[in-house]
Amino acid sequence: MKKILSTLLIVSSLGLQAQVKQSVGYPISPVPFTSVKVTDTFWGQRLKASREVTIPLAFSKCEETGRYKNFINAAHPSDTTKVTGFSFDDTDVYKTIEGASYSMQTFPNKKLEKYIDSVLTIVAAAQEPDGYLYTARTMNPKHPHKWSGTKRWEKEEDLSHELYNLGHMVEGAIAHYQATGKTTFLNIAKKYADCAIREIGPNPNQVVVVPGHQIAEMALSKLYVVTGEKKYLDFAKFLLDERGKTKFIQEYSQSHKPVLEQDEAVGHAVRAAYMYTGMADVAALTGDKAYIDAIDRIWDNIVNKKLYITGGIGATGHGEAFGKNYELPNMSAYCETCAAIGNVYLNYRLFLLHGEAKYYDVLERTLYNGLISGVSLDGGGFFYPNPLESIGQHQRQPWFGCACCPSNIARFIPSVPGYIYATHNSDVYVNLFMANTSEVKVNGKPVVLKQATSYPWSGDINLEVTPKSKLDFNLKVRIPGWVQGAVVPGNLYSYTDRKTLGYTLKVNGQLVESTLEKGYFSINRSWVKGDKVEIHFDMEPRTVKAHPAVEADRGKIAVERGPLVYCAEWPDNDFSVLSVIMSKKPVFTVENKPDLLFGINQIHTNAQILSYDLSGRLVAKDVKLTMIPYYAWSHRGSGEMAVWLSNDLSSIRPVMAPTIGSESKIEASHKGKAISAINDGLVPKDENDRTIPYYHWWPKEGTTEWISYSFDAEKTVSRSTVYWFDDAPWGGCRVPQSWKIFYKGKQGEWVPVENTSTYGTEKGMPNEVVFKPISTKALKIEVKLPEKNASGIFEWGVE
Ligand SMILES: [Zn+2]
Repeated sequence: MKKILSTLLIVSSLGLQAQVKQSVGYPISPVPFTSVKVTDTFWGQRLKASREVTIPLAFSKCEETGRYKNFINAAHPSDTTKVTGFSFDDTDVYKTIEGASYSMQTFPNKKLEKYIDSVLTIVAAAQEPDGYLYTARTMNPKHPHKWSGTKRWEKEEDLSHELYNLGHMVEGAIAHYQATGKTTFLNIAKKYADCAIREIGPNPNQVVVVPGHQIAEMALSKLYVVTGEKKYLDFAKFLLDERGKTKFIQEYSQSHKPVLEQDEAVGHAVRAAYMYTGMADVAALTGDKAYIDAIDRIWDNIVNKKLYITGGIGATGHGEAFGKNYELPNMSAYCETCAAIGNVYLNYRLFLLHGEAKYYDVLERTLYNGLISGVSLDGGGFFYPNPLESIGQHQRQPWFGCACCPSNIARFIPSVPGYIYATHNSDVYVNLFMANTSEVKVNGKPVVLKQATSYPWSGDINLEVTPKSKLDFNLKVRIPGWVQGAVVPGNLYSYTDRKTLGYTLKVNGQLVESTLEKGYFSINRSWVKGDKVEIHFDMEPRTVKAHPAVEADRGKIAVERGPLVYCAEWPDNDFSVLSVIMSKKPVFTVENKPDLLFGINQIHTNAQILSYDLSGRLVAKDVKLTMIPYYAWSHRGSGEMAVWLSNDLSSIRPVMAPTIGSESKIEASHKGKAISAINDGLVPKDENDRTIPYYHWWPKEGTTEWISYSFDAEKTVSRSTVYWFDDAPWGGCRVPQSWKIFYKGKQGEWVPVENTSTYGTEKGMPNEVVFKPISTKALKIEVKLPEKNASGIFEWGVE
């Protein structure tokens, strides 16, 4: 298989025709990826990276980490096979096949197709005769994976992920079927779905369980759309209807109450976004009013109270979850890449249900910012969280043990062409702007649409419309919210400059007029071959503020241009971007940089930097601030980055004057990336302050750890101050059992200082210890962690 893998990059010229059966469906019909060929520069680069790097990497990881071996083992069950890894490892294989399938549609690749066929042979052999396909049990039914439970579905609501595996299998199988026309994978998936439908349900011989990790709901809805078999939609609805009524009741997996009673986005953000997508599917495909009302309420809560400006969702790493209303911290923002993908799914379904452009405003914002930031431009590095501020502790990683984000990126990016257009009777929706050639059907008649644009860098789009013969229809062009002065639907974010952007549409050179309906500009006419539509959106840098209830963004602004959110990053600025104060009326210039970060537009403005000098005076200095698109950060090493920049003294964080601590070289028993937090001069407002960086020893417990400061010359010191980090009750850090300060003696030995005050352990407060003055070249702090917890430090100061 390795040999085949290495030739994945060779593109075959053979095209494949897909036959998508669409007898049933949404109020608005998607124009599937199979009808769209993207020729865009911006997205072309992303699609190429996905095709040439991410997907081959994902397949090679499946081999390397024994994902295929699991299927082979399941085909030959044994009492002695050791079941390792996660209970959802099968999904990485399905997700990668899904991504490869989308990709093959545009770039047919015989070798890749054959490779997938060979993988599917292994997958098929692992399926039990009745359709059950879950290698974590089948390879050793007597001693299955410890998360699996002793019998089928027993631990589904907890950790077994049997239905999660089914969901990803169905998603992958449908993409494979649509791209290749082959039913090999689809049949495997239908067989497993049928097995689940037989065994899970309200009847006496069945069990009632709902997915512990959602996705089956949306996948089964899609299976219904593709096959026309209503049992799949009914089963999806059953899984949603029963949630909150089984034994497992918790916010974490959105089972705290029945889904129709939910009105706030809570719990694990990826599970939530997948479930809400499933609810939107059921709402759109059944027209069930209760489902429509419920999902509308939840969407309203997200966009008005829980959405980052980047489109990211999930404020906290604790439980990888949504925070409280307006709780949107920047540096500790979780914004998992998978959750951003889920947010796109949800808004897409709601568009298909309601036909309103506002859902695409959220979708586009997510797509161009918090989603593609999750993968490096070259396609080989991945973010799990996508924070909006950094001191350098964040870096894209080549792969993770729990590979949800990389494999989700592998399947999502190649699917982007499927989001551009939609149709409804004689309406053709143009929702996204990227160069492409596509064929859509209007009342069953083919129309070729050709977009040419350098969006998102420019707001000019040329669209050529070519019906087979003269055809009456309504071309509905989405006028983005950012053109109309709405950052997002609702009042979570708003523009602070008083600019008004305009837009124009021309047909064959003539201006056309239309009142916007649901965010769309409609051009209703008899279209003939070669009709040309010119769309122009004014595109200028804009400043944005958040709703005052968002504490983390108070006194700050963000900068965007078109659909892109910008950030200030260290390589472009020779000062601390975290200490910048923006002008109240900033003036921006835009500079095209074709060779930087695969080609970007930078934004420049005059700003100031505030710092304390050695005598403690606040000093302001003029600087020229350069900003780059948020998605492009963290490609040039790790360092400071910020999306939200102060424009008010209340939020400014001046650069601290150098101290003995800040000038020291740090050594430590465990030297993590965040260790620079302890001598950055930033101290917490109180124990709950999460706006400044901290350092911790989690998951260590009970050990003795140390950190040392060495000085370039001998210094006389007599006091030391520590701010302890403690995130009880949810986190793993508590104040230490005890701590001590040592100095380096003449022979290089560590000697305890003679303290004249006690070693305090108050959380988030200055714990100052005074000791007999000593002259030394190094100081060490020794920390005894609590028996069952780790400890952490915001700041360690020395005087
Ligand atoms: Zn993930």
